[in-house]
Amino acid sequence: MNFDDRGKGNEVIEVCSNCFSPRIAPYMGYETGKRFICQDCDSISMVTIEFENIESLVKFLKEKRKEEN
Ligand SMILES: [Zn+2]
Repeated sequence: MNFDDRGKGNEVIEVCSNCFSPRIAPYMGYETGKRFICQDCDSISMVTIEFENIESLVKFLKEKRKEEN
């Protein structure tokens, strides 16, 4: 009945813990449990970094780039 029941503010963005790319996919291995493979750096990890929304991720990446330069 109500399409907004889930709440629009609950969209969590998961990114690669290595390169912070949001292009991660579930990775299935043997008895490994929950893992992810990053499509940008090919790293496989058990943990991802979560951001509340895309704006938080973009802001984080901007800050990070600033630090590296
Ligand atoms: Zn990555």
